[in-house]
Amino acid sequence: MVKRRIAEILRSGQPDESLLIQGWVRTKRELKGFSFIEVNDGSSLASLQVVMNQDLPDYEAIIKKLNTGASVEVTGVLVPSQGKGQRIELKAEMVKVYGEADPETYPLQKKRHSYEFLRTIGHLRSRTNSFGAVFRVRNACATAIHQFFQERGFLWVHTPIITASDCEGAGELFNVTSFNLKDIPRTENNAVDYAQDFFGRPTYLTVSGQLEAEVMAMAFSNVYTFGPTFRAENSNTSRHLAEFWMVEPEMAFCDLDGDMDLAEAFLKHVFKYVLETCPEDMEFFNQRIDDTVLATAENIINNQFQRLTYTEAISLLEKADVKFEYPVSWGLDLQSEHERYLAEQLFKKPVIVSDYPAKIKAFYMRLSDDEKTVRAMDILAPKIGEIIGGSQREERLDVLEKRILAQGMQPEDLWWYLDLRRYGTVPHAGFGLGFERLVQFMTGMGNIRDVIPFPRTPQSAEF
Ligand code: ATP
Ligand code: MG
Ligand code: MG
Ligand code: MG
Repeated sequence: MVKRRIAEILRSGQPDESLLIQGWVRTKRELKGFSFIEVNDGSSLASLQVVMNQDLPDYEAIIKKLNTGASVEVTGVLVPSQGKGQRIELKAEMVKVYGEADPETYPLQKKRHSYEFLRTIGHLRSRTNSFGAVFRVRNACATAIHQFFQERGFLWVHTPIITASDCEGAGELFNVTSFNLKDIPRTENNAVDYAQDFFGRPTYLTVSGQLEAEVMAMAFSNVYTFGPTFRAENSNTSRHLAEFWMVEPEMAFCDLDGDMDLAEAFLKHVFKYVLETCPEDMEFFNQRIDDTVLATAENIINNQFQRLTYTEAISLLEKADVKFEYPVSWGLDLQSEHERYLAEQLFKKPVIVSDYPAKIKAFYMRLSDDEKTVRAMDILAPKIGEIIGGSQREERLDVLEKRILAQGMQPEDLWWYLDLRRYGTVPHAGFGLGFERLVQFMTGMGNIRDVIPFPRTPQSAEF
């Protein structure tokens, strides 16, 4: 018997085909002499309707077990559906119940649950329409990302999770200590003795793979990393996680303009791919989550992003007739309310802000001739704010050394990074995209906790 995925059956299944499906029961309707169940296997938003006649072996006993949440295998033949809403349905010939689900205690009841509640049952929420759609779109985004870079000859490089440097200089680090806590050597005041710890020096979970991606770009020209990063963000916002995924391309022989062009083409590609491969899921988000999702996607694909400098952005913000919570003035970083104002209200599309003050940006960004600004860019999205942060990197050894010192860091700690400027240095550039922010942007989901299967935020990491 051919086992088929439900998405494929709904798309192309023909009457008289015999097949087998496996999945979880979404609903059951008992009528006189026959019953319907809707079965979902995660492959699509829509479920497959299965019809069971009372002449099915063990009919009564099986129907009793087929409650919402039960796992089931059905063998049968496709028939045209009499009812509205579906083209085809499966007439059951054999039904096997793998695991029952007690309707009294099954946490996913038929009613619509809030996302707050669903976060408390994170192990089951993927069985809902919303989370099914989110995680399919997340998968499509990841596929599109690899496709985009692979088609352009970028090498996917794997940068380390455990690192010894704080690339962003923001101090939001998670410590790494060796495994058996009770055996860790301690100093007199009970602090971990790093000199004797596993690596013989303090190590952290990576906040960004950028510095290591630069290493690889200095041999392979165009590379990208795509993996988890960690930040001890002590804030509870709807766009920060302690563990999130980042996509970080790095290009040798590239300046900031090339970087911005690549980032824009990249976002356009991902949106286009997801619209083409997940039309039902995207339609669902548009109907149920945010009715601007489809228009936003079209807008991104078809229109050029707005580009302006930080200095221009500040003057627009100073003229804005909205009352911001945080101050706006040249030299201060943009807050999410400012970023959203620019993208959402003023330009109504993604905005690329470039040339930020050097003082508010990381040491590795290319200092401009004015010596006040760096060749950095952020891409700001409506409803979210910053989704991409990028820059041309400082390729001049002497300038880089000065910048490292100015930010209170030790050039010796970054000797290998400086070596790249000592031997065969080139102008290069790259960016970091927060993968979850992209999925949020794509789906219209309001909270970043709802676009990653296992969100890690302060005071919460249940499993
Ligand atoms: P923000 O200003 O929002 O805190 P950032 O400027 O600190 O972001 P970068 O260091 O520029 O972030 O990181 C690159 C990208 O990674 C950001 O543009 C964003 O999309 C994403 N990102 C950063 N921090 C987080 C986080 N805690 N959770 C999820 N995504 C994040
Ligand atoms: Mg931050
Ligand atoms: Mg920022
Ligand atoms: Mg940033």
